Parts: sequence; structure tokens; C-alpha cells
Amino acid sequence: MKRQWYYRGSLKYCNYSCSYCPFSKRSCSRAGIQKDKEAFFRFTDRMLVQKCEGAVLVVPYGEALLYPHYWEGLATLSQSGRIDAAGAQSNFSFPAKQMLAVYRACGGDLQKLRLWGTFHPEMTSARQFADQCLYLASQGISYCAGAVGDPRQMDEIRMLRDLLPDNAYLWINRMDGCKQKYTDAQVKAFSEIDPFFSQELAHHRANPAACGENRFVEADGSMRRCNISRQSLGNFYEEPYADAKEEDLRVCTKKECACYLAYCNRKDVILPFFGQYPAFRIPAYPKAAFFDIDGTLVPKGEKQITEETARRLLHLSKRCEIFLATSLPLSYAKRKLAPVWHVIRGGVFANGGRRLILECSGAGGTLDVITPMNTDWLAAAKELGKRHGFTAHTYQKGGEVYKVTLAFRPGRAGTGRTEAKRRNLAHLLKIPDSCRILWEEGRMQITKQGTGKLEGILEICRELGYRKEEAAVFGDSENDTEMLDYFNGTGRVQNRTEPKEPDCKT
Ligand code: SF4
Ligand code: SF4
Repeated sequence: MKRQWYYRGSLKYCNYSCSYCPFSKRSCSRAGIQKDKEAFFRFTDRMLVQKCEGAVLVVPYGEALLYPHYWEGLATLSQSGRIDAAGAQSNFSFPAKQMLAVYRACGGDLQKLRLWGTFHPEMTSARQFADQCLYLASQGISYCAGAVGDPRQMDEIRMLRDLLPDNAYLWINRMDGCKQKYTDAQVKAFSEIDPFFSQELAHHRANPAACGENRFVEADGSMRRCNISRQSLGNFYEEPYADAKEEDLRVCTKKECACYLAYCNRKDVILPFFGQYPAFRIPAYPKAAFFDIDGTLVPKGEKQITEETARRLLHLSKRCEIFLATSLPLSYAKRKLAPVWHVIRGGVFANGGRRLILECSGAGGTLDVITPMNTDWLAAAKELGKRHGFTAHTYQKGGEVYKVTLAFRPGRAGTGRTEAKRRNLAHLLKIPDSCRILWEEGRMQITKQGTGKLEGILEICRELGYRKEEAAVFGDSENDTEMLDYFNGTGRVQNRTEPKEPDCKT
């Protein structure tokens, strides 16, 4: 089974001396380094012998990448066909040329190397840190960069943002142990740098049922589910090797998944584009992203996209093309997404009744097609509207109707009706078999058979030459199931976290 593996060695030492960090004040002996080396090689051997699959992230107490044994071990892991990626957290102070030479000499696969760099403005300049990032990128190495959201270091963090390429993601971690709250202006400023900063400020209530398949292994083999969990899952070196017991996996004594390494394991927290192994914090953007609107981009019942979602969408629009896949007609979609309409490249509207590809900046169309539907039944059906409590709305282009919506008054239809009753109603209204009927929140949405969000997305992908693996879809409702299933369900929106009072130290 593929899973995210975390490994923490026995060393507790760092070459930096950040004022708030306990590891800056420790010393490290030759014997300590040797012990750490043996423990890491024992871990890598065990991973290979037990045919463990997935990805490995080294999360040291201090700085690990100063030691060649980590580069050797990562290189060994990267050679395994069962390991998709391997890397480590670091302050990026390691001698990159020298260490990469070790990695290469040990047969390491650069494509699988993933590095996580934390910028410490107290210890290094933005220029120096950015130079290391740029060097790694020039060697074809995937990395992420970020910093603790300390408002006192805002200028240096902004400088780093400016020095890194536009498409490099810069994360911001919530500052822990703070006495004062972040001000609204500080939250806004950090959110502009990291559009996912709100995830750091959210309460992610611990829920082992929502945990992914991850394992955290200490140098002595003690195993837990994540870096903060206290629930033992046994020992990695126990013989015979066995996976964790079901009853242990059901327990978590923590109140919250309180840091990125914990909540990134959660299946119900939105971390779009961080792929199969979000622990590395390296986004992999598709070429095209298709979004449902109601319940996905715009909260149910709201008239317009929120400021935060708009910010994320704008961030995303610099990295991939944004399309919509909605049951709304074009005019409603435009209204709901007015603040970001200039970055929308088109989409599937009216449940597939209309497909549109726009020129850049949301204007003009290179494709604007509808699928006309049979409306012979409509006039008679409208006559029955009063009796059955609905109003009919038609959507048309060039005089041809491509969608009809029957909006029922509360209590008259919709979610309360059984499937059989819905079928009877369609029969009574004489809606022909050539029409496709979709129920959504008290609305009967009718288009021609063969139309749908998925069909529309595939048409746009064909038109623009996107392969299946180059597109991603996001939706929240039953109406989105077909497209989510086709694209492996990676974009199911089900964020159940609640905003938390932001806090910080200064
Ligand atoms: S770089 Fe990280 S581990 Fe090292 S002293 Fe600073 S905070 Fe601690
Ligand atoms: S704290 Fe860790 S083990 Fe507990 S629910 Fe969160 S991620 Fe899972």
C-alpha cells in the first residue's frame, strides 16, 4: 500500500541558532552522528526489505542535510521502484553542490528528490535563501519554500517572495505559542503570499477516521500515525513485520491536527494540487482546472465568491487555466464570479447545455456552442406549473433552447420526492426520453440527453488538446460525481474545518 512515511532520526542539533528553537542550543558528538547514521540506514534497509511503498519525508529535530548519510540514504530509497519520492525538511544551508554529488554518486534519482526549505530571516538573507532555491531548481530538483508567519519578518518574507519565480509556491506557517492575535491586516498580508494560509489558522479537529495512510517512524522504530500523535502503532522493526492494528488506528488522543505535517494527512482538508504526497508541500498544477460553482467556489446560498476563494483562484490562474463546470447559466455564473471573471477561460454551463472557451481576460469566445433540446412538451407543462408548484425558466441562444429549469416552491418537490414520484412527474409533464433530467435542490433541470458536465469538459479538453492527466475537476454534489469519478475524484470539496481565532506572538 502506498503511503506517506515520515522519519525522524536521533540527532537533535542544528547549525543555526534561531532564538525560539530548542535545537539551536545543543551540541552534537561524532558518536551521536554515527548513531544517527546507523539508525537511518536501518530504516532505509527495512523500507526496502519489507517492500514498503509510497514516499519518505525526513523530518529532523534540527538540520539533517548537513550529513552525507542522509543523502546516501535518500539516494538508496530513490532507486526503489516502490518509492515514488524521497526528501527532507531543511533550512537550506547545506552545501548543495557537494551534497548533490554524494546523492548522484550513490545512484540517486534526482526526479524523485523532494526538498522542503524553511527560510529563517534571523539566520540568513532572502537573497542567500533564494539563491539556494534557484540552484536546486536549476538542477531539476523539486522543492518547496516557506517561512513562519512572524509579522516582524514580513519585509524579508516579501523580499523572498519577489526573488523566487512567480510559479514557486511560498507557504506560511502559523506562528505557535503566540500571545497576541494576528491582526486582519497581517492575515491578509500573509494570505496574499500563501493563499492556503487560512488552513493554518483553521481548527482541524482530530479525527482518526479521516486520516490517510501515513506512518511516522522514530529512530528507534517507534511508529505513530503522524508527528504529533501519541498513539503507538507498534515498532517498525518488530518481527514478523506487521501493519498497525485496526483498534490502534481508530484512536487519536490529540484534540487537533495542529500543524501542517498532521493535517496534510487528512482526507477531508482541502489541499488541492498537492498531489498524492502532500507532506512535501510541493504543488503540482494541472494545465486546466474545472470548478463547479455553487457549494464549491461560492458557499451554498451566497450570491458571490468570497474574498479568500477569489484570492486562491487568482493565485491559481497564474499557474493553470481556470474553467467552470456548473449547472448555472452563463449570466448567473458571471454574476457570482464577477471579481474573478477576467481569469475564467470558459467552461461548461447549464449542465452541459452550453460550452464556452473564452479568449484570455474572460472576453470574446473561440467556442460557444449549445445543444438544443426538444421543447414540444414545454407549453403544456407550464400549464401544470400552478398545480404542481413550479415556475419554468428557459435558457436559449439564437432562439434555440438548451436548458429548462422547473423551480419548485419549497415543500412541493426536490429533495423530498422519491425517485418513483420524480419519474411520475416527468411522465405527467410529458418530458420526452430525449431529455436528460437532473434534480438539484428543488429544481428539475432538463437538457438534451448526452449533455452533462463531464461530456462538456471532455469536449473542451479535446478542443484545447488537454490530456486526461492534465486536467483536474472540483465539485461537491451528486451532480459532480460523474466528472469527479472520471478524473479520479481528487477534487471532491468537503472542507469541514472551522475558522480559528488567529494568533501570533508579537
Ligand atoms: S533552522 Fe530550524 S531547527 Fe535550526 S535552529 Fe532554526 S528553527 Fe531550529
Ligand atoms: S493528530 Fe495525527 S493521528 Fe490524530 S487525527 Fe490528526 S493527523 Fe490523524
